[in-house]
Amino acid sequence: MDFKADTTPLWDLERVSFGYGASPVLKAIELKLLPGRCYGILGPNGSGKTTLLDLLSGVVAPQEGRISFQGRSLQRWPKRALAQTLGLVPQDFMVSFGFTVREAVEMGLHPHLHRFASPSREDQLLIDQALAETGISGLAQRPVTNLSGGEKQRVAVARALAQNPQVLLLDEATSNLDILHSLELLRLIRQRFEQGSIQVVAVMHDLNLASFFCDELIFIKEGRIVCQGPTREVLTSEVIARVYQVESQIRYNEFTNSQQVSFRLPGESL
Ligand code: ADP
Repeated sequence: MDFKADTTPLWDLERVSFGYGASPVLKAIELKLLPGRCYGILGPNGSGKTTLLDLLSGVVAPQEGRISFQGRSLQRWPKRALAQTLGLVPQDFMVSFGFTVREAVEMGLHPHLHRFASPSREDQLLIDQALAETGISGLAQRPVTNLSGGEKQRVAVARALAQNPQVLLLDEATSNLDILHSLELLRLIRQRFEQGSIQVVAVMHDLNLASFFCDELIFIKEGRIVCQGPTREVLTSEVIARVYQVESQIRYNEFTNSQQVSFRLPGESL
């Protein structure tokens, strides 16, 4: 499928609100995510980014408003079809005790398999490829519960990639990774995106990595979208001050070929 030629929104959210208790976490969200763009969702802790990913993936349903995915109401999507289409890399990757890394990655294939079917030779190759691409082939036989946070994060990405999804939803997938592993992982995902084989929506914490990685940014604060648009247009000191309450300076950086941000607390020159 040529995502870049397709103009049907991947997701269309109309006045979507959602909360876990009495007060809403996300309020009247209007959002269209188009194919062929790599999206970053940014905002302070607790602003509703993970909740938005949960709404996009159908883990929770809106209490008000509507969400459609690929032109069809998300609630009407059969669970299995949705699980085959969306690859989710959650923030806290949990695998029950007793599984090896390879088995955990193999679980990514389950939406495609009939129950009790074992993976085919082709599936085994997909698993091998995902392990190799995320740099964890050497960990394949290790129990997943014995890994470091960064290693677990790479297993979560390998599992989502092995699933060969149309869309990859990432929740702070580089938060536990050192800079080399962060850049390698983002490059791997970006390459797949450039080849047109996946769409990407990523919750990100690091504004500089987001600027380097994402074509479009969506800033959220206290459950509302503050602004959304091409990275070069929306990554401004005004937006950063409004969203994060810090002062910043933004400059194009030739070395990274992206806008890069420096921060300080308001009024401080330290
Ligand atoms: P972010 O990803 O931006 O840090 P979240 O979407 O995780 O924000 O959380 C938004 C708000 O919703 C926070 O106040 C958080 O405490 C609350 N919240 C998140 N998950 C739950 C839950 N399962 N039950 C109750 N409150 C929740």
